Amino acid sequence: MSELHTLTVLQALDLLRAGEISSVALTQAVLDRIAAVEEDVHAYLRVTEEAALAQAEAADAQRARGEDAPLLGIPLAIKDNLSTEGIETTCGSKILQGYTPPFDATVIARLKRAGAVILGKTNQDEFAMGSSTENSGFFDTSNPWDLTRVPGGSSGGSAAAVAAGEALAGLGTDTGGSVRQPASLCGVVGLRPTYGRISRYGLIAFASSLDQVGPITRTVGDAALLTQVMAGHDPLDSTTWPAPVPDYVGAMRQEIGQLRIGVPEEYFVEGVQPDVAEAVRGAIATFEELGAEIIDVHLPHTDDALSVYYLIAPAEASANLARFDGIRYGYREAGATIEDLYANTRGAGFGPEVTRRIMLGTYALSAGYYDAYYLKAQKVRTLIKEDFDQAFETVDVILGPTSPVTAFKLGERTDNPLEMYLADIFTLSQALAGIPAVSLPCGFDADGLPIGLQLAAPALEEGRLLQVAHAYEQATTWHTQRPMLGTG
Ligand code: GLN
Repeated sequence: MSELHTLTVLQALDLLRAGEISSVALTQAVLDRIAAVEEDVHAYLRVTEEAALAQAEAADAQRARGEDAPLLGIPLAIKDNLSTEGIETTCGSKILQGYTPPFDATVIARLKRAGAVILGKTNQDEFAMGSSTENSGFFDTSNPWDLTRVPGGSSGGSAAAVAAGEALAGLGTDTGGSVRQPASLCGVVGLRPTYGRISRYGLIAFASSLDQVGPITRTVGDAALLTQVMAGHDPLDSTTWPAPVPDYVGAMRQEIGQLRIGVPEEYFVEGVQPDVAEAVRGAIATFEELGAEIIDVHLPHTDDALSVYYLIAPAEASANLARFDGIRYGYREAGATIEDLYANTRGAGFGPEVTRRIMLGTYALSAGYYDAYYLKAQKVRTLIKEDFDQAFETVDVILGPTSPVTAFKLGERTDNPLEMYLADIFTLSQALAGIPAVSLPCGFDADGLPIGLQLAAPALEEGRLLQVAHAYEQATTWHTQRPMLGTG
């Protein structure tokens, strides 16, 4: 039992329920793993060791009383843009340094109610703006498969932690790809649920019409369980769906039956690394062997997703980030007048990418430009959504690569924002359409770096999506590979 940190959530729950391990032993094993590899990976902004062990003890006591809960005793990593009562929450930004929320985000409250143990807060791009975690206001995180490379982003800390065995699973958030792209680059599973399926109450907002919370896990089954626990209506978030939450773990295990998979030619274009395209074609072949029908579909507005996203997301961010003024939260830089105080605080507290987005967004929303930019982008967004509606008339899921490339080198793209934005070229349109999508491992490139397969389904069809992803996972062994780090 020396390798407890390598267990999946579902495996650990079986052992906990059988009384073969305790949550304290499991949590301690993960904390030991953190102590062993964190100086290489830097996945966490802060580890809450004492609190985690206290929660684990409480979970064991609860189990000893004959009680159970869906995640009782399972240690998880939490992205730092999710509010955690009593634990500093910075969103990867200096401007929130020292801010400790007096409340839990709804997802955190639900995880705690389900018995989860919180290990700490993970590194991210500042305010979730980025694709490599290099925009963190604090430090870089390394990809556990190659420490000289990025883990992806913006949820790079959670993805790296899960890949490195520094948590059994974790939470990320996905505005335009930030759960799926780091999952892909770190060789783990990342699910972006339907917009409104999971509450954002207590998530520090980036772009409110796009933000969604999602699990980052080692298997599809674990993603199904975490989604199950977190999903559902929340009176504190009026965008949440009232639709009842299906049994995702049960749905996932059903036979897939006659399956129609759509493959858009727009996802196999120049700029996709050849071994990524090859691995994804390999996944298509696997699905054919499983009896699926492969159908060509078209998403003609795919090319517009980048421009649309980079108008809508910064516009909404410029409004959402107006609240960080040095008065109410975190960091403050003094000034002679109140305006100076705001300017000094924001000037020193926000990093360059966040500043760039606030300026772009403020410009796009300013009088006279609103119709030409934001409104027009919203209209094209509808066309992107209609592309998916049409494709889903003939197929059950849509398949393609998650990221055009595997993990790139730290520092390689930091001087060129556009090149960084291109890392999300295949993950933006599902977010704009509000539909669920999952990334799961489907191979390795010539350098041994993981490659991710992306599957997308119509809104609220997470059950179907997980079922198809699970069938693929069962037929392959990619998800069983772990990076060579520390002692194993
Ligand atoms: N990389 C994209 C961006 O920089 C998406 C980020 C996200 O999903 N939070 O905006």
